[in-house]
Amino acid sequence: MIVIIGGGPAGIMAAISAASDQNEVTLVEKNEHFGRKLLLTGGGRCNLTNICGPEDLIHHFSKTGSFLRDAFKAFDNNDLISFFAGRGLKTKVEENGRVFPVTDKASSVLGLLEEELKKLKIKVLVNTSVKEIIVSQSAVKGVLCEDGTIVEADKVIVAAGGLSYKATGSTGDGIRLAGKLGHKIVPLKPGLAALTLESTLPERLEGVSLNDVKLIFKAGKKKVASEKGSIIFTKNGISGPVTLSSSSKVADWLNEGKKVSIEIDIMPVLDPKATEEMLIKKISESSIKGLKNILKEFAPMRFTDILLELSKIPQDKKANQLTSKERKDLIMLLKGLKLDVINTVSFEKAQITRGGVSVKEIDPKTMGSKKVKGLYFAGETMDIDGDCGGFNLQAAFSTGYLAGLSAGSKNADL
Ligand SMILES: Cc1cc2nc3c(=O)[nH]c(=O)nc-3n(C[C@H](O)[C@H](O)[C@H](O)COP(=O)(O)OP(=O)(O)OC[C@H]3O[C@@H](n4cnc5c(N)ncnc54)[C@H](O)[C@@H]3O)c2cc1C
Repeated sequence: MIVIIGGGPAGIMAAISAASDQNEVTLVEKNEHFGRKLLLTGGGRCNLTNICGPEDLIHHFSKTGSFLRDAFKAFDNNDLISFFAGRGLKTKVEENGRVFPVTDKASSVLGLLEEELKKLKIKVLVNTSVKEIIVSQSAVKGVLCEDGTIVEADKVIVAAGGLSYKATGSTGDGIRLAGKLGHKIVPLKPGLAALTLESTLPERLEGVSLNDVKLIFKAGKKKVASEKGSIIFTKNGISGPVTLSSSSKVADWLNEGKKVSIEIDIMPVLDPKATEEMLIKKISESSIKGLKNILKEFAPMRFTDILLELSKIPQDKKANQLTSKERKDLIMLLKGLKLDVINTVSFEKAQITRGGVSVKEIDPKTMGSKKVKGLYFAGETMDIDGDCGGFNLQAAFSTGYLAGLSAGSKNADL
């Protein structure tokens, strides 16, 4: 008998692969419904994986990425796409290899997974929270639920997620349960998180997006990284794919006590001189226009209004009245508006958890615990974290698949 704790993507996939070999499987979920976090993914569209090559997949994870090699060998991005296609859900590829269902609905992904659970006659217990994993003589015997129910099992797969977006059910239980059994826990930190900035500008720019910009990160005076992509201003900082992907590095620098700043270059394809020449050309082509109308071609109006304010240029200035000093000030801001970072947002709003059950005590070939016989792990409960772009769901599905396969194998733990 196999019990799986957690009905997110990792737990559901673990149940499906474990049940494929005629095993008796019970999936325990503390919410009334499965996959609450899955429904939020990709802005409700579910960026379920990425079409990059096998080695590239691993490079999109932090330093524990190589632990995933066997899981990806067992079930990679192509297998995942075929899994859905074979059951009637086609996918499409968008910018940067990101894969979405053609329906643009995360509910189609969850619906298909739930259908599969039914087809395989997997027993489900919802509204049931696992409180303890029962272990005797270093081997699992079952789970004890909050309501006192005991579900006996000789294999338990912990797929209870991380600690972000607690309202979805991911409250760190899996990590706590593993810790109680003696597993080492790598300290938890929010990952793929928006940044809060030490400025009132974000509040005034809330909702404004800047596409194809370059973010230059500085720790102290040293340039430490740069990323290209889109950003969106939030009430107290910035978010968007580039910000989220850079947030782990930013958090690490801040934790080292460094002062981190970002510079936003909104014209990364042109150097400052070429940007200035372009502005001069635009002004000469339409010299009677207000400067604001010309700047509109460079960036959204709410953003350029602020650039004018910061460079102390009157909002109603005519383009042909712009002095050379004012022009240079403007170019400096277009090429490098500098803002200081306070921190990343908290777990509540971070997309993933960094840290978790140390992978050093998990066999990468099976996802089995090296400490407790019959115990397996899948998904974000483990210390694995990937970039934005479908990598975290792929890791949840791949590790879930491998954990289920291993726990369900007739040779498991022999
Ligand atoms: C807003 C948002 C958007 C995201 N977008 C993307 C995206 O587009 N692409 C991508 O790759 N990743 C995305 N992610 C990350 C991705 O959702 C997670 O990495 C993924 O859901 C992890 O899967 P999991 O199954 O390990 O854990 P979870 O999805 O967290 O599932 C864990 C499940 O376990 C249950 N559980 C917890 N404790 C117990 C217990 N004691 N007993 C029983 N059940 C329990 C929970 O209720 C939950 O249902 C996003 C995350 C967020 C928050």
